[in-house]
Amino acid sequence: MCGVIDLRSDTVTGPTEAMRAAMARAEVGDDVYGEDPTVIALEERVAALFGHEAALFTVTGSLANLLALRAVVPVGTEVLCESQAHLARAELGAHGALTGVTMRTWTGTRGSVDLAAIESLVAPDLGPFMVRTAALSVENTHNFGGGTVLPFEDLKAVREVADRRRLCVHIDGARIWNAHVATGTPLQEYGGVADVMAVCLSKGLGAPVGSLLVGSTERIAEARVWRKRLGGGWRQAGVLAAAGLYAVDHHVERLADDHRRARRLAEAAGVDPESVDTNIVMIDVDDAAAFVEAGRRAGLLSVAFGDRVVRLVTHLDIDDDAVERAGQILARLTAA
Ligand SMILES: *Cc1c(COP(=O)(O)O)cnc(C)c1O
Repeated sequence: MCGVIDLRSDTVTGPTEAMRAAMARAEVGDDVYGEDPTVIALEERVAALFGHEAALFTVTGSLANLLALRAVVPVGTEVLCESQAHLARAELGAHGALTGVTMRTWTGTRGSVDLAAIESLVAPDLGPFMVRTAALSVENTHNFGGGTVLPFEDLKAVREVADRRRLCVHIDGARIWNAHVATGTPLQEYGGVADVMAVCLSKGLGAPVGSLLVGSTERIAEARVWRKRLGGGWRQAGVLAAAGLYAVDHHVERLADDHRRARRLAEAAGVDPESVDTNIVMIDVDDAAAFVEAGRRAGLLSVAFGDRVVRLVTHLDIDDDAVERAGQILARLTAA
């Protein structure tokens, strides 16, 4: 292959032939009536993987986060999250605009947990005076942090604070699969920390569409009502769920290849490969827009994060050959 190397995101993958075959074979029904057997199978499968009672299949991770947070943060109360969290930065204010959630943030190095800051932010119920904290949210892996894996000890500590202060825990696990493969921490252990968690099938797992939230039977039943209320009920969605099931069965362990390739790209770009936890590489540059444009002209697509940082993401459609070619382009661009 000699085309453009697209490292903008792990969302850009096309479904593989085998995945398309699974989609074509999918048994379907009307999911709004609860009659799509493939959707039901996917929801049961993913709930079990994370040790939760139930799951809900949604069109995007943003919708899964919206429904998950809404389930644990009543209108007019707040969630605490990291200042670069996807929730806070990349969901276009949905939690405030649509479900009445407010937020305050701590700032962690590369998206990390700062327990002292969290403890000092937690606000008790002071009646009609101050916003009450209802939940803590952590993102694992942390996207704007550079694909960083949060140490499991930190997640347990967040759970402990939440229990002590009577709060819920939300995990934005869009890329929890990458954290699992990078650390060997079982998915069930991640699930065990959270009251509600969102996970994406459309990132590293390579499904064309879809995310899920997991939680208790009661919370998921209510989220199902809210999904419909927001216009997100869908009908023969089993065609998409089949892609998700295929991805969960076949594309988790291979994420280790993406991680290895990301470290290789880091090396080529003069970035310390030790700073690359998973499939995301952040490169510090003088002029991010100019770097992205020079890359594009050389056949490598990337994304500027602010004025001086460029993000590269490895994924299912990037093989060793593409990484070698990308590495040559990056070596040229970073030497310039
Ligand atoms: C991609 C992503 C989401 C969800 O994004 P959608 O594009 O709405 O599917 C949520 N959280 C994080 C950290 C993400 O990277």
